Amino acid sequence: MSYDFSEFGQHLASGSGIEELMDDLGHALANADGELKMLGGGQPARIPEVDAIWRERLEALIEEAGGLERALTSYDPPQGNARFLAAVAKLFRDHFGWDIASENVAVTAGGQTAFFMLFNLLAGRGSDGEAKKKILLPVVPEYIGYANQGVSGCLFEVGKPVIEETGPHEYKYRVDFDALEVTDDIAAICASRPTNPTGNVLTDKETAKLSALAKANGIPLILDNAYGAPFPGIIFTGAKPFWEPHVILTYSLSKLGLPGTRTGIVIGPPEIIRAVRSMSAIIGLSNPSTGQQIMTPLIESGEVLRMSEELVRPYYQTRCERARAAAHEAFGEQVPWKMHRSEGALFLWFWFPGLPISSKELYNRLKARGVLVIPGEYFFFGEGLGEWSHRDECVRVSYAMEEQVVREGLAIIAEEVRHAFSL
Ligand code: PLP
Repeated sequence: MSYDFSEFGQHLASGSGIEELMDDLGHALANADGELKMLGGGQPARIPEVDAIWRERLEALIEEAGGLERALTSYDPPQGNARFLAAVAKLFRDHFGWDIASENVAVTAGGQTAFFMLFNLLAGRGSDGEAKKKILLPVVPEYIGYANQGVSGCLFEVGKPVIEETGPHEYKYRVDFDALEVTDDIAAICASRPTNPTGNVLTDKETAKLSALAKANGIPLILDNAYGAPFPGIIFTGAKPFWEPHVILTYSLSKLGLPGTRTGIVIGPPEIIRAVRSMSAIIGLSNPSTGQQIMTPLIESGEVLRMSEELVRPYYQTRCERARAAAHEAFGEQVPWKMHRSEGALFLWFWFPGLPISSKELYNRLKARGVLVIPGEYFFFGEGLGEWSHRDECVRVSYAMEEQVVREGLAIIAEEVRHAFSL
């Protein structure tokens, strides 16, 4: 039988870059036979000290009267567990002075689901059925997971960044504020901070400028803190957490080490939070409880901040420095190559200026040699970019896997890039 899918079906059920990526990742992790070098996905590293904390917390939940029941056998209200919501609000109130309470916080089934809800809530066809509103991404490349989330098609207007040379084989994308235009059809501005895929971090000043721009246009600024401050804190620049009353923040427990619990957190104006709660009830009744139960005492005590600062950040920073050194060793001076400055997140972002093959072709050649990366072209989505050869010349490489695997993978990538340049 052939099915005539709806508009929703056409947009969400016909495949996407994120599906391909998660499929590759899932199969690679399930069938890991030591041969495949999985440098593609956003799988966080296994940090032994952090894993020990999860073990302790699970044991405590089993020991504690009612603990297991709260974690596994009850539906939470659609906004989230009341004690968890209060703990999150108090953490940010006490440590950062933000004027927020439980009514400013909602839980979702991971950050990904939060974005599906937020984007479709704010953008798409308007309630008058006519004008289509969009989300402005001030800098691309941006997170591949946003790309196909619009139930009525592409939701994004994007800004072409300024490329700043920052060192030998190193560059940085900057927001081109002079070219950035907030037209009437823009419903919100959004950025991941740090940015997946590049490891770019909007400075405090740039963030404040984007926030002022959003406020002046009466729209929210959405900041995706999947890797950000204060938790998981995979941010190497000292950039500070940012909040203002018109800002919507997303957090996630995934990169802290709990992707399997599917726990996302939205902080925002009460009207937005009520909308997220309503959507959670309709789409999923309630959200996963286990992550909330594991984390509640760690958030109440502030331990989550210590873990982020003392365990998670240093772990990734060391990994990142070693991976960058390995990249310099592998690429040397033979091919044209540059790496984005690493300011956070789990990735190295390579640019091979003048690459004679597409990034998808490079991905396929690498996959045939047992190295999984993500072709850069997926991260340049949305409208407003025009012709730009740069979008075909980049790949994203995760450095969260074992160091040896990253080093060997980088050596193979360098070999394939040399072949592509016929060197
Ligand atoms: N935002 C960014 C920038 C990400 O990289 C990811 C996952 O890799 C997410 C959001 C969603 O993560 P999760 O749904 O696991 O919270």
